[in-house]
Amino acid sequence: MHTVVDPSTEDVVAEVESCDVAQVDAAVARAVAAGPAWRAVSPADRARLLRRFAAVVDGHVYELADLEVRNSGHPIGNARWEAGNVRDVLDYYAAAPERLFGRQIPVEGGLDVTFREPLGVVGIIVPWNFPMPIAGWGLAPALAAGNTVVLKPAELTPLTALRLAELGLEAGLPPDVFTVLPGKGSVVGERLVSHEQVRKIVFTGSTEVGTRILRQAADQVKRVTLELGGKSANIVFADADLERAAAGAPAAVFDNAGQDCCARSRILVQRSVHDRFLELLEPAVIELRVGPPADAATDMGPLISADQRERVRGFVESGADARGRPVDVAFRGSAPDGRGFWYPPTVVLPGSTADSVWRDEVFGPVVAVLPFDDEAEAVAMANDTHCGLSGSIWTRDVGRALRVARGVESGNLSVNSNSSVRYSTPFGGFKRSGLGRELGPDALEAFTEVKNVFVADD
Ligand code: NDP
Repeated sequence: MHTVVDPSTEDVVAEVESCDVAQVDAAVARAVAAGPAWRAVSPADRARLLRRFAAVVDGHVYELADLEVRNSGHPIGNARWEAGNVRDVLDYYAAAPERLFGRQIPVEGGLDVTFREPLGVVGIIVPWNFPMPIAGWGLAPALAAGNTVVLKPAELTPLTALRLAELGLEAGLPPDVFTVLPGKGSVVGERLVSHEQVRKIVFTGSTEVGTRILRQAADQVKRVTLELGGKSANIVFADADLERAAAGAPAAVFDNAGQDCCARSRILVQRSVHDRFLELLEPAVIELRVGPPADAATDMGPLISADQRERVRGFVESGADARGRPVDVAFRGSAPDGRGFWYPPTVVLPGSTADSVWRDEVFGPVVAVLPFDDEAEAVAMANDTHCGLSGSIWTRDVGRALRVARGVESGNLSVNSNSSVRYSTPFGGFKRSGLGRELGPDALEAFTEVKNVFVADD
């Protein structure tokens, strides 16, 4: 059993079973057995079932959000958006079964037709930072393409995924088409990866575990989609609307208490406006309301666990910079005292680009600010990382925006905005931030194999 704790109070919320290897094997066997009937459901009926699943989720948005507030400490407004995102992603991919076209290719001696075939059982391994959306981004296109799904939520945050599985059944999904197995990564996750009949792994989490999964998947040439860490740059040029850039910067990194792979955790500011930008940023950070996640006025909740808070502290406090000294804290917001895994939103000025707070993913409410001189230096600094997930570019010069966007090695960039994820556009990373793309119109390609069939005409 695993004890689920409310990170804002440290109170026990639930006891959840931790599945063992035998339970994983049994669930995979059931998912394999459910496959033929599920892929035989007509495209229109599969579409209808996904739309019904979306409608049932819609009817439970408030319930799912309340569960996430208690399990993950997400502010209630965020949690409602997250539940609504599951609904929207199911709705979006409900259109896909009827658009899974093949091709007919003229060839000598007959006709060649291609089909998009489902892979079989898809294993989805979800982290604790966005339990609902990340589950939805995998399960909706996987089911739409005719696969069955076995999903492992993070041990810390299983409650909404378990509820989504119940809602799927309520919507009329056949049994064993979508199964949620709570448990440890080292047990349930490892077994999903090693199981011969799990044909694809969709993994979101640390680069370390993602790298390990990629290596293990090679033994079976298992398909993988990996969404890993980020160290995204928020690049502010002197000609930008500085007020807007500064007002948006806190949410771009402190949303979900910074536990976001897209967090713009490095702010690069053109030297001539560096000090002015910090003057504008300070009140925006100080004014952030950090507090009880169930309060609609709260902007930022707690970190997920005591361990995560220790990790985050390590980037800021004693001996954290490249010379073994504490990092220079420019200013920080507030955080409640007492129980709960709180950490205040913190803005640091690293001594150099060698400091780990500048180089490594903090996954907490800490942002580092450094100046740059010109466009070329901004691009070089933004790219000086193994990651390449997101980023923002603030400028009024459209040509520069395009040049810099083409120069930054990152999968998702925003100009004069900090948005990263839209379910209708592809999402994924360059370099060690991942492999493959989720969301958008092409996601189903990652959940199907192309088969070509030649029919002789004589
Ligand atoms: P992990 O990568 O360990 O966990 C992500 C998921 O993978 C969880 O469901 C976890 O299970 C599972 N898992 C762990 N080990 C294995 C394994 N050997 N085989 C298969 N699945 C496994 O991330 P952490 O939770 O440890 O977070 C550590 C750091 O990773 C964070 O501080 C952050 O830097 C980064 N991270 C990035 C995320 C992103 O969105 N890109 C999301 C989460 C973390 P279990 O429940 O047992 O942990």
